Order: sequence, then C-alpha cells, then structure tokens
Amino acid sequence: MGKKINYIKLGTVLFLFIVLGIAIFIKNGFTAQPIAQVQMREFPYPYQAMLSIASDIDGTTPHEFAQYHQFLNTKENTPMGRGLGLDIGDSFWMYMDTNSSHPYYVDNRKHISNAIMTYFNGIDTNKKKDAGLINYYYRAGWIDSIHGYGDFSRINHGQGFCTRNLAEAAWKHMNEDGIHPDIWINHGNEANRQNFGAYTSFGFASYQEGDNKQSPYYHTDLIIKNGVHFLWNSRGDSDFGEKSAIFPIKLRDGNKIWGFHRYVFDRTKKGVNWTWGPKALDVQITPQRLDNLVSQKNYAIIGQHFGGGNGAYPFDRSNIKALRLLASYQDSGRILVARTSRLLHYNVAHNYLHYAITTEGGRTKIELKSINDPLFGSHPVTIHEVRGITFYVDNPKNVYISLNNHLVSSKEIQCNPPDQTGKPSIGIKWFAPDTFDYTKVVSHTS
Ligand SMILES: [Zn+2]
Repeated sequence: MGKKINYIKLGTVLFLFIVLGIAIFIKNGFTAQPIAQVQMREFPYPYQAMLSIASDIDGTTPHEFAQYHQFLNTKENTPMGRGLGLDIGDSFWMYMDTNSSHPYYVDNRKHISNAIMTYFNGIDTNKKKDAGLINYYYRAGWIDSIHGYGDFSRINHGQGFCTRNLAEAAWKHMNEDGIHPDIWINHGNEANRQNFGAYTSFGFASYQEGDNKQSPYYHTDLIIKNGVHFLWNSRGDSDFGEKSAIFPIKLRDGNKIWGFHRYVFDRTKKGVNWTWGPKALDVQITPQRLDNLVSQKNYAIIGQHFGGGNGAYPFDRSNIKALRLLASYQDSGRILVARTSRLLHYNVAHNYLHYAITTEGGRTKIELKSINDPLFGSHPVTIHEVRGITFYVDNPKNVYISLNNHLVSSKEIQCNPPDQTGKPSIGIKWFAPDTFDYTKVVSHTS
C-alpha cells in the first residue's frame, strides 16, 4: 500500500502561503516607498573639484617654512599680503646628507643645506635638530607627508647612504613622537636608493632599491607596517587633474600601495619644462586649468617646492596672484583646496565606500558600512574618513545617515539646496577650516 497523501494538511499549507503572499503584497502596496534615488556626489557641496598642493621640503629653512605657511594657511596680515586661509600641508625630512647643493644658498641669509629643516642634525640619530618643530607642525596639520627619509642626493650618483638602519631609526623616533605620515614622496637623484615604486630593470628608475628585499636599502616593509598608504614614485605628470588621483602600485616585495598623480611639468616644443618651483606657480595655476578642473569635476595634486627659492620672500607678485586666484575658486565654492592626505583619503572613501540604502516609514536611511580598500582591505568607517561624502537625495529632510549602526549627529550633517544638477544633497561635513597662525607660538631662529 502506498502512502496516502494528506490532502487536508497540504491544503492548509497552501492556504497559509496564499495568505502570507497577500499580506506581503498589501504591506508593500500600502506602506513601502519606491526605492529612494540616492547617488553619491563627486565632491563635498558646493565644490565641483578638489585640489591639493604637495610641496617637497627641499631647500626650506624653518624661517621660510613659517613665512610661506603663514601666508598660505592663515588670514593674518603678512609681508606678502593678507593670508589666503587655505588648507595646504607640507613634507619633512629626518636626515640631511647631500653634497650636491654646495655652495648653493638655501635662503637670503647665505645659509647652506645644513640650515634646512630636518629632524636630526645630518645623519646623527643622537643629535636632534628641528625635531620639536617638525612634531609641532605635524600636530598643527601643516605637515602630512614624509619626503623620503632625507636628502641623500650626491654629486656622485653611485653613492647611496640611506641604508635600512637609518630607516629603522627614523621610524623609531617618529613613533616615539607620534608622527605618523601616511604619504611618502620620493626625493632626489639616483643616490637615493631608498626610493621605490617605479622600478624597472633598466632606464630612469632602475636605481630604486627601497622595495628590494635583497638590498641594504630595503625598507618598504617598514613603510607598510607604519601605516603609509600613499606614494609618489618619482614619476611626474604633465596632466593637470584626473578623475581619480590614485592608482595601485605593486611593490617588488609583494606589498601594495596607492600611487598618486602629481602635476609637475609641461611638455613644450623644446622638451620638458619643470614647473614645480615657487617662481612657476603662475605657470601651474591658470584660470583655464582651474575652469577645466571644475568642468571635468576632477582631482588635481600640484607638486611644488615652496621653500626652494632663496629670495627675501618665497612668492613674487605674479605667483601671489596665481595663489590668490586659486583661493578665489575656493571662496566661490568651485574648488575645494585640501591638504594632500585629506584629498587622498577622500578619494579612497569616494571610490570604495560601501553603503546601504533602506526606506522605512517614508524616511530614507543611508548606512555607511565600510571602506573596501582593494589594497589595504576592508575596515569599518570612521567619521574622519568620510568627511565630505555627500549624496544626492530627493529630500534631505527625509534622510538620515548612520555610521556603524549609530545615527550620525546632526552637528556633523550638512543639508544642501539643489546645485547645478538641480538636485539637493546631504552629507557628512568637511573638516572645519583652521586658519590659526601656528607660527606665533613657536620660535624659529634658523
Ligand atoms: Zn625633493
């Protein structure tokens, strides 16, 4: 005898399924909203582009550093006119071991390379020079990048003195001081074997040994271990601005790091014209370039050497005009000028932020979950990493943003009226401006 099918039980189950189906239909039909239209804006409102100036510390004395940052970052009355109040960072050196710039004067007081702002005196790790000043400016936000460990450029390119022991000592002291740069910018000529990121077996970058495990100059394991995420690998760009400022680089030791584009030269009929000196700011920054950056909605990082000159003031009239032009683009809400670390972190967050949209009871929730960095892995979002992240929404008043399951405080939220696209938006506030004059509470005698 075969098993009898229990038709009564089957009927009940089918009936329950139908009831459940009708209930879901009714719930959706009456209470659920159509999926909210949420789209990430390219840049923090109201800006349409982002720009950073990444300056190498070459030739900069503490006096020059204070002089030009007072003009760039504060709104004080300075010898070059009223300060611009821009968020512009800088780089630093731990060591000085060059012989290639003698007897070149680094300022208008006939100082030579030993007057340049460095953490140690020469390469003597028992003798600190401007360590306190570097630490202070790092904390102030005026320093965010390490320009290699130091200046190891030599007249004889075959010499290479920045070996692993100096890298280890540098990180030991930086860690003790709480200095954590997450941008590395290669410096100088082929004697700087510690450089890395552009190695090829022949040609210009074949000297780079920093990521070669077999080399006495190997140190990129320390770079990664100490939290450096971004690298300028000595390859400059002639393009002014890109859709994304970052690109992945695989190092020879297997580690990965974000390379970033830096505009530093123009191609001319005569060849390459390097524009990364303070006297060429007016060549770098032009109305056409800034307008183009805005219309393309691009990122731009400009390479500079603010302290590279040796006149009484870092910038002359036409360069001051170029910098004021840049400031006017920020003041009118077109280009956000940000220190390089902020631009790069924003770029990563914008490219790799994982978020979820849900709509309930007529309100839309944007839940910021993680940054799925393809090179450094996925990690929960912190508010500083998503500062400036903005979403186009139908009605900002009906939207709330959460971060790791916590509602983001209204103090951190910015609701925006419609922009050029006609769409309103909501986002996490960008960093508050800081135009404090940090030169006023520090002595710089060099
Ligand atoms: Zn340099």
